[in-house]
Amino acid sequence: MDRNILDLDYYHRPKVCKLCGGVMVFKGVGEYQCEDCKAAEYDDYGKVRHFIENHRGATAAAIEEATGVSQRTIRQMLRESRLEVTADSRAFLHCEICNVSIRYGRFCSKCETNYHAAVELQQRKEKQLRGFGQATKGQEGSKRFDRNK
Ligand SMILES: [Zn+2]
Ligand SMILES: [Zn+2]
Repeated sequence: MDRNILDLDYYHRPKVCKLCGGVMVFKGVGEYQCEDCKAAEYDDYGKVRHFIENHRGATAAAIEEATGVSQRTIRQMLRESRLEVTADSRAFLHCEICNVSIRYGRFCSKCETNYHAAVELQQRKEKQLRGFGQATKGQEGSKRFDRNK
């Protein structure tokens, strides 16, 4: 499959720290931490998951209001069963990258690890180029580095 792993949209993952411009490193279950100032942030999945943990039985509308994540995205997560993982769930899903069967989510654990490592490496390169304290919100620059691997 000729697909650039960095082009995958991963629930609006935070890539750059809002506070210091540092690289956000994946910690697991939708949580990220700045490698410089240790500030924590969540992607859409992390926000929704944490809200549901504290508000069992919340409606999609209530989740949307509390997290800012659209109901469409919430429903997509539920369909993917990322929020309802149980030991006996069936493998109907396939990794979007290597196509191996998975129990939940979008990628197998190996591809997910590779994905996060690739994003973090890319962000470190971008951070070096733009220098400290120059964090930009845009991600337009990401395409430029795809050929350097
Ligand atoms: Zn930071
Ligand atoms: Zn995979």
